[in-house]
Parts: sequence; C-alpha cells; structure tokens
Amino acid sequence: MNPAEIDLEEEKLEILRRYRSLLRVCHRSKTRADRARIRKAFELSAEAHKDMRRKSGEPYIYHPIAVAKIAAEEIGLDTTSIVCALLHDTVEDTEITLDDIQNLFGKKERTIIDGLTKISGVSNYESASDQAENFRKMLLTLSDDVRVILIKLADRLHNMRTLDHMAREKQLKIASETLFMYAPLAHRLGLYNIKTELEDLALKFKDPEIYEEIIGKLQKTQAVRTRFINAFTLPIRRSLDKAGLHYEIKSRTKSIYSIWNKIVKKGVPFEEIYDVFAIRIILDTQTDTEKSDCWRVYSIVTDFYQPSPERLRDWISIPKSSGYESLHTTVMSPTGKWVEVQIRSVRMDEMAEKGFAAHWKYKDSPESPESKLDKWLNQVRDVLENPEDNAIDFIDNFKLSLFSEEIYVFTPDGDLKTLPVGATALDFAFHIHSQIGSQCIGAKVNYKLVPLSHKLRSGDQVEILTSKKQHPKEDWLNIVVTASARHKIRDALREEKKLIAEEGKEMVKRRFNGLKVDFLSKNIDELVRHYGAINATNLYVRIAKGNVDLTRLKGFVVENGRIRFEKEEVSGKQTQEGTPESERKIITTQGKGEALYIGDEQQQVEYRLATCCNPIPGDEVFGFITVSEGIKIHRTSCPNAQELLSKYAYRVMKARWRNAETVQFEVGLKFSGTDDVGIVQNITNIISTDMNVNMRAISFEANHGIFQGKVVVLVHDTKHLSALTDKLKAVDGVLTVDRIESEFE
Ligand code: MN
Repeated sequence: MNPAEIDLEEEKLEILRRYRSLLRVCHRSKTRADRARIRKAFELSAEAHKDMRRKSGEPYIYHPIAVAKIAAEEIGLDTTSIVCALLHDTVEDTEITLDDIQNLFGKKERTIIDGLTKISGVSNYESASDQAENFRKMLLTLSDDVRVILIKLADRLHNMRTLDHMAREKQLKIASETLFMYAPLAHRLGLYNIKTELEDLALKFKDPEIYEEIIGKLQKTQAVRTRFINAFTLPIRRSLDKAGLHYEIKSRTKSIYSIWNKIVKKGVPFEEIYDVFAIRIILDTQTDTEKSDCWRVYSIVTDFYQPSPERLRDWISIPKSSGYESLHTTVMSPTGKWVEVQIRSVRMDEMAEKGFAAHWKYKDSPESPESKLDKWLNQVRDVLENPEDNAIDFIDNFKLSLFSEEIYVFTPDGDLKTLPVGATALDFAFHIHSQIGSQCIGAKVNYKLVPLSHKLRSGDQVEILTSKKQHPKEDWLNIVVTASARHKIRDALREEKKLIAEEGKEMVKRRFNGLKVDFLSKNIDELVRHYGAINATNLYVRIAKGNVDLTRLKGFVVENGRIRFEKEEVSGKQTQEGTPESERKIITTQGKGEALYIGDEQQQVEYRLATCCNPIPGDEVFGFITVSEGIKIHRTSCPNAQELLSKYAYRVMKARWRNAETVQFEVGLKFSGTDDVGIVQNITNIISTDMNVNMRAISFEANHGIFQGKVVVLVHDTKHLSALTDKLKAVDGVLTVDRIESEFE
C-alpha cells in the first residue's frame, strides 16, 4: 500500500471521530429527525469538500465540523444552525447551489446560507471604507436572521484559532478585521467569552511578542494569585455552605487583550494589572428564588468585605439589552486590593456566556432578551434602510452603539426606556415616536423644565413638551446621539427641503416664462453655474428662501429660449450688486478684507461670510472659493464644512481673524424660557442698555408656558458675544440662550 492511501483511511476515521464529537455537544438536537438532518448535512458537506484541503494540509471538512461544534457547544444554537454551519462554505466553494440547499433542507436553511455566502468574501478590500461597506453588508444579513451572524462568528473564531498556517500578511488582515468588527459584534450579542477569545487571538497574531510576554508573566504569577483567591473566598465558602446554598466559585484574571490595552494604551505596568481580580459566584438555584438568593449572597460577601458603594451594579433588576443579568459589587480585601465579585444564577451565567442564544432554553423568563434583541435589530434595520452616511461614518456610529453603555429612564407613566449613555431629551422624544421628536420643544426631567439638548441620566423621569408649530432643525443633528433619531431628523429635513425646493422651482419657472426662456436643464444649469450653487435643488432652495433674488437677475442675454450669462459681468461688480438682501454683510467703516487674513500670504482678499453658518471673529473658519461668488468664509463646524473640505479640498483656503474692534457682525440669538411677564423687557434692557449692543430684529413667541425668541444683534467677536449671552442667561426665567447657526432656523 502506498503511504498516501494509509493517510486517507486514517483521515476518514478522524473525520468520523470529529463528527461524533460534534454530535455529543448538540444538546438541543434531541429528536431522531434532528439527528438525521445533521447527518445529512454532514454527509453532503463531506462529499462536496472531499477534494479540498485547508492551508494546514488537513481535510477541509474539519473546518465546517469545528464551526458547527462551536455553534452548538459555545453558542448553544439549534439544529438548523448546526446544519447551516456544516454547509456554510459549500455554496461558495463547491458545486452545491442554493437551490440544492433548499430542496434538500428547506427555505430557512437557504436564507441563512445565502447570508453566509454573501458576507464571506471579506478581507479582500483595499481600504477602510471597503471594510466598512462589507461590515454594513454583514449587518444587513443580520437583520434577516440573526443566526447568520452567530454562525459567522463561529466561523471566524475557528479561523482565528487556526490562523497559524496563513501567510503573515493575511494573518494581520484577518486579525485586524476581527478586532474591527467581529469582537464588537460578539460583545453586543452578549457572547462575552467569544469576544474575549477573538481579542486575545487577534493580539496573538498582531503583536506576538507582547502576547507571549503577558502569557509568560501570567504563568509566573499564577501561584501567588491562587493563594490570594483561596484565602479571599474561604470565609465566603464557609458561610454559603452554612446557608445551604449550592454554588460554584470561579476566578479569572483580566483577558490578555485587556491587559495589553492597559499596558499599551494607558501606560500602566503589568505589575499593577495582573492582580486585578474578579470572582464569580454561580448559584444553582430555582428561577423563582434566584433574585433573592443572589442578594443573599451579596449580603454574605459584604459581611466579610467592605463594598464600594459606587461600584454596585444591579443587572438583575434591569438586565442589559444584550440579555446580560448579574449582580456586581467591588469589595476591599484584607490586603488592600479591590476584588470584583459577580453574583448570578446558573441560568444567568449561561445567558452571559452564550448570549441571547441561551435564552431559548429558558422561554418562560419574564422579559425575554430575545425581544430586546429584536428591538435592537429593529434599530439596526432603521439605520441600514437609510444608508445616507458614508460607510465609515456609519460604522463609527454603529460601533459606538455596540460599545456604549446604557442608561434607564422612565416615561411619565413609569415605562422603562433604555438609551445609550449621553442620550438627550431629544433622543428620548424620538425614541418614543418620530412625531413627538419632530414637535419637541423641551422636556420636563423630574418635573424640571430642560432644553432639548439636556443629557439624561439613569433614573430620570422624562416628560416631553411638544408644539404643533415645531419642526426639526439642522442643529438638532448635533444634539442627538442615537442613530435612529439622527435618521428621523435627516428624513424630516430632506422632506422639508424638497417642499421648499419645489417652491423655488416654481419661481424659476415663472421668471423664465417672463423672460421667454425655456424651462430646460441647459438653462437651469446655466443659472446654477451663475449663482455658484452645488446643484439645481440647492439653487431652488436658495431662491425660495430669498437668498437669491431672481428679479434682480442681470448681465444675461436670451437667444431662442436660451439664457446665457456674460462672463465678465459675473465677476466682482455683478456679485456685489446681485447680493441678496438677506446675505449678511460685514458692517465696517474700513472696507472689506479687514477682519480676516486669508491664505498663506496675509492677503487682503475680498470675501463673504457664508450664510449657512454665519461666522464671526473668534470662530474657527476657513475660506472656500466659490464658482461665482468669490471666497466664502465658513465655520469649521458648519454643517456643510465636511462636504466642502473632503470633496473640494483644492478650493479651500486658510483663514484667520484679525483683532478688529471696529468691525461689527450680525449674530442671531435664540432664547427659550418660562413664559414670564416682563421677560422681554428684561432681555432687551440688557442688550441695549447694559451691554450697549445694537439690536437689529427681535421676535418672541409663547407656547405651553414656554417662550421662544430670536434677536439679531451686532457684536465684535465671539468674546463680545459670550459676554452678552452670559448676561442673558442670568435673567430670571431664561433657560437657554444659543447662537443661531443658520438663518434658516
Ligand atoms: Mn468558513
């Protein structure tokens, strides 16, 4: 016999051994029918992959078996998932088609494997944005069936465990991709063990030396740590035994990756980290008494050790939205070290280790984490269905939401709502309903009136105040932190813009009619060019808002229904003359170009202040060369800045303010406060008498006991302005004083 053949026989036996060890951990596949489906999937997969080998030289089928085993054993998935895990690479790498899968197994299996195939072509991208785009695709499939992502995580975990045989470059790519998206996703899905292993493995390949060093140090300090933990837990064990509780105590140091994180990112030496301990007390108890039993244990632990009151975390009463339930406290040991103690039942522990998947075993629990996961998936879906951010922004936002901690707030009726840390009253309003968000003018938090931007804290009771007159504003985008609120605001703004643009379009039509110009795209393009608009919609909006006055159109000829602007007249003089009323002017006795330095040379260049952000001296600004309106000055925080800077970088110029007391700028301020008699009087007094500031316009409006007002004042610079706002804020009844970023508010 030749040696190759002996190998093949031995391999066949090994494949069967591995298959049987998979069956042993498929705890949820109990029926004969379940077992038959798994066998069928295994046989099909083994046959399809029979001539393929992994980079290590092993038979390929080892991989799908291992993935199925992770899915069953470490995530606790069902028969359908095991079937799909066994088949996950067949459609991509073999002759088997999705139709075959559907015919042999079913529709569900087809959907899942389709999802797995779509997201498999990863790690072949050139740039971060390709990577981000891929991640988005992956999340899209996640909204079809979450099992896709769970199997994908099992697949990734096995690939990471067997990464040794890959080329160095590939290892680095896969490892960073794992850190970039798979570990956060595992975290969000509550798969903490898998998350930790993925991170540790990623570090092993990204930075092998440090990884080995940390492992070595952990081994060296093992004995000391064991002694400490034994001494620490001894009195607790005795008391728990006396109380007749069944339990297990586990202890763990931090993961290698988190130690690395502290060493490298925070500059803390290993010696200060390795002995940060956490012990876990897992109670074998009944579901109906688990909560009180956990608190009993808490009381026993704190009989021996002093707890830190700020570090008590009760995720038993209010579980995390990933389904995590546990009671955490940090206590002081006799040797002066803090030790975190986690207390939970066996059921909670399984939930914590296997994420929401474990929930399938405990269907009767009151607040199903599955429904929370559904809620979260719905949010993801909302974001995905409005893919208007560029992919990288999207991922940044999304990753924030993966890692963000949560706060718990209440409606006036006492309903509990979960929001990310940093969420504002406006986020809450949009969380309740998009219409409530759109009409939100303020809120009462614990019966106190607060502005939209008020940051909520756990335990707050929030009542939203609305007004029919209210509508979403551009600067609301800076107030909200939740992706869903941001998208709802964008949608509303886009809707509003569309209506305004329609109006502007009608005005162009009428004007063209009067001039005997045909309403054709050529002519509209000419007008767009003339006014330096980004596109037709942008121009229509400007016209409708009165920023561009068509009745003052000059310097053009009309021939056979076509309009054409004469080049010479478009420059300088024309622009100046064509400046619409509402375009803000610098009011100065010394002429233009005095207040700003533009460009590298400190040239005196003519410029105009952009109306989208209304900069004044003191603001961070840049110059932007427009097509026909010369240089415009924008604030770096302008809503348009990012687009201008990224798309038209070559048209951007440096700009810096001079100190110029003589120059005055118009600035709009908006107020809100309680609707108090005499408040308008007080405000105007401060502006004109106390501060000796000129007022241009003022308007106030009262609603639901809250007033909102606007005033246009003339100031020298941001310092001058903030002195004024500080004084105004001190007026009784005034709640907020904010600068109006754009005149369209
Ligand atoms: Mn695979």
